[in-house]
Amino acid sequence: MQFDVFTLFPEVFQPYLDSSILQRARENGLIHVDLHNIRDWTTDKHHITDDTPYGGGGGMVMKAPPIFNAVEAVLGAPPCCPLIYLSPQGRTFTTAVARELALLPRIGLLCGRYEGVDERVIEHLVTDQISIGDFVVTGGELPAMIIIDAVTRFIPGALGDPQGAMNDSFTNGLLEYPHYTRPEEYRGWRVPPELLSGNHALIARWRKEQALARTKAKRPDLLKK
Ligand code: SAM
Repeated sequence: MQFDVFTLFPEVFQPYLDSSILQRARENGLIHVDLHNIRDWTTDKHHITDDTPYGGGGGMVMKAPPIFNAVEAVLGAPPCCPLIYLSPQGRTFTTAVARELALLPRIGLLCGRYEGVDERVIEHLVTDQISIGDFVVTGGELPAMIIIDAVTRFIPGALGDPQGAMNDSFTNGLLEYPHYTRPEEYRGWRVPPELLSGNHALIARWRKEQALARTKAKRPDLLKK
């Protein structure tokens, strides 16, 4: 799967892309992430990408021309794939959205900064808007990274354990069961005996019960769904 990220701060992505599961997925050719600096598509001598808002008020707004130039140069006009604007005003990112995106061969991710982008970008270029939750962060880079990470987990072969993402919280509508590892006893706290029994049916039943109990306690809204 190909991710094309449009950003003013491409340098913030690299350390995370070069670590762990994302690094392995890139090395194995399961994902490609191309970072495009919007500033490279400015046409003025000072490479200006933002300006003051019409109507006054504080903050700056990302200008439309460099964004259109960047996206059309990379994805074509009209864009050859969905262009997602990371926005607190978008639809909320969930496991279902991650799975939906993981089926696509290519997506563009547009990261805002300052007060966001000129509304004409949203009206005439963007095809989808996604929010990572009801709060505001400084830029779209972390939200884009979260989407790349969560989507990659649903690409077959990206996780060491092929069933890994299927047992994760939310994938089957429940929170995941608790995990333990060595030592068997720590400060007097013991690992639940079911997990030490070697009885696979018993372990599976215990995990299912735990998943249900903690979903009921922590996220009863999931059970209602
Ligand atoms: N003025 C905007 C508003 O109130 O809707 C918020 C702008 S925010 C400081 C700058 C950028 O960060 C946004 O353009 C967006 O790309 C990104 N961003 C902030 N919060 C986000 C969220 N919850 N989900 C996705 N992107 C977000």
